[in-house]
Amino acid sequence: MRNFFARAATRAAWPMAALSRAALSRAALSWAALSWTALSCLAWGSAAAQGTYPNHPISLVVPFAAGGPTDVVARSLGASMAKTLGQSVIIENRTGAGGTLASQHVARAAPDGYTFLIHHNGMATAPALYRKLPFNPLKDFAYVGQVADVPMTLLGRKDLPADGMAGFIKYAKQNGDKVNLANAGLGAVSQLCGMLLQESLGVQFTTVPYAGTAPAMTALLGGQVDVLCDQTTQTIPQIKGERVKLFGVTTLDRIKALPDAPTLQEGGLKGFEVKVWHGVYAPKGTPPEAVAKFNAALRAALKDPVFTQKMAELGAEIVPESKQTPEGLQTWLQAEVDKWGGVIRKAGVYAD
Ligand code: ASP
Repeated sequence: MRNFFARAATRAAWPMAALSRAALSRAALSWAALSWTALSCLAWGSAAAQGTYPNHPISLVVPFAAGGPTDVVARSLGASMAKTLGQSVIIENRTGAGGTLASQHVARAAPDGYTFLIHHNGMATAPALYRKLPFNPLKDFAYVGQVADVPMTLLGRKDLPADGMAGFIKYAKQNGDKVNLANAGLGAVSQLCGMLLQESLGVQFTTVPYAGTAPAMTALLGGQVDVLCDQTTQTIPQIKGERVKLFGVTTLDRIKALPDAPTLQEGGLKGFEVKVWHGVYAPKGTPPEAVAKFNAALRAALKDPVFTQKMAELGAEIVPESKQTPEGLQTWLQAEVDKWGGVIRKAGVYAD
């Protein structure tokens, strides 16, 4: 495992500069958060008293490229939440460093109820992957709630000379590092899935990182890369359009949206499981009234048939009500940080 992670980390052309450029001392971050908190509380006092929140559009930051799976969930969610909030939810794609640049941006943003973040498992893996992470996922945010869980699929380019899981495994073992595996950067779930895949197969591919799996999918469709592990929220339309080859799904059981697709486990990779979860965050110090209103809009969206139907078609599963709350997200995040911290530190992998 150790060598595997180390090799994967070295091979990925990682935008280190971006991270060090962004390195802000924790003290400065706390000071900035404190000042913003004081200012926004003053501003909020009168706005809340007048019951005017929100009185202008709200920004929902997405850590990956537009058109990708996280973006697809965010845009549908934002459109549905806007109906409850009475204001538009503007999607802001801030890519780079496996999603950490977006998280850092939101951790430092004014806690005024107008900036939120949607992120996936990467929020929990970041503290172990980045030794100089300039924010703390467990301390620098207010928690709104979880959204939906999304399976991943293992795909090949349409003309990859391999069929089914058995064909893929044979091809992977024969071609090793001649196989180009795309991902969305170190800390992205596509990278995590790709690492588990290579480890399970005992092979090493050549990793090609992108700013999200939307550009990675474009590369797969264009035949510039061979393989991609990605969420169903982006891949189902491509699979149904027969523009890519589907080898299997990354859940332990088959999924309703792709009933004929075998699991990777059925295909011979015992215990292989990667599932993507999503949480919505705000900068720490965001007025509780704003968090509560955003959470109420989130919960309404998770019951809105327009949103739920779209998610079901794309293989996503709405989380149970207990996870749709600030406490539900915070407890889950803590457990995930603990879980991945152990695995990643044991493997000795770092992104910085
Ligand atoms: N699928 C990406 C990931 O691997 C994220 C994205 O582009 O939405 O984390």
